[in-house]
Amino acid sequence: MSDVLDVTGLGRSFVQGDRTIDVLRGVDLRLAKGEIVALLGPSGSGKSTLLQAVGLLEGGFSGSIRISGEEASRLDDKGRTRLRRDAIGFVYQFHHLLPDFTAEENVVLPQLIHGSSAAKALERARSLLGVLGLGERLDHRPSQLSGGEQQRVAVARALASRPALVLADEPTGNLDEATADRVLGEFLRLVREEGAAALVATHNERLAGRMDRVVRLHDGVLS
Ligand code: ADP
Ligand code: MG
Repeated sequence: MSDVLDVTGLGRSFVQGDRTIDVLRGVDLRLAKGEIVALLGPSGSGKSTLLQAVGLLEGGFSGSIRISGEEASRLDDKGRTRLRRDAIGFVYQFHHLLPDFTAEENVVLPQLIHGSSAAKALERARSLLGVLGLGERLDHRPSQLSGGEQQRVAVARALASRPALVLADEPTGNLDEATADRVLGEFLRLVREEGAAALVATHNERLAGRMDRVVRLHDGVLS
């Protein structure tokens, strides 16, 4: 069976004035279906750059990124947007929820964009938020939720359209230790239940130890 993610020789450089910074220098990485991998590396090592490339949020990379068997570098903008929408869920360090919408609406909206019926989207949103302990918070806006609750909504949103691949960029980096532990536990449990593969950037060795496998980003390559 083909891997959910197959990255080969991924390179990414940034030009800054007359200097070129080679942040990724040939990253190779494969994720099988359902596999949860921690992406470890100190601040500035290129974790976000890697997730943004893999998440098709930015072009400008060299090498190959295959997602569910589709080669991203061969797609145009429209194709990349479609593949991202169909195959990828993203959780950011800061939740990026829509401030004027309720928790429930934040989880419903991406499903509508994905083509779900309103009734199905609502049912899925309520079910996910319920599993995450937010059944009593459906009508709250992000500003009316704690940091941990906001991240739980972001987790529900990322998983709502049943992506094969979940990318999380320091998803609990903004939370205190106890809350981070709890939210990460719920995130991992849900990702496992859904059978998704996940790549989770963190600089926390302890949290990384709770995932199936750890890869380390150093000098632009993984080890
Ligand atoms: P991490 O997420 O591991 O902290 P980043 O991927 O954010 O690391 O950054 C890796 C390196 O790439 C840093 O040196 C950063 O300054 C540089 N970088 C990231 N994005 C840009 C950009 N848009 N332009 C120039 N340099 C960038
Ligand atoms: Mg980062």
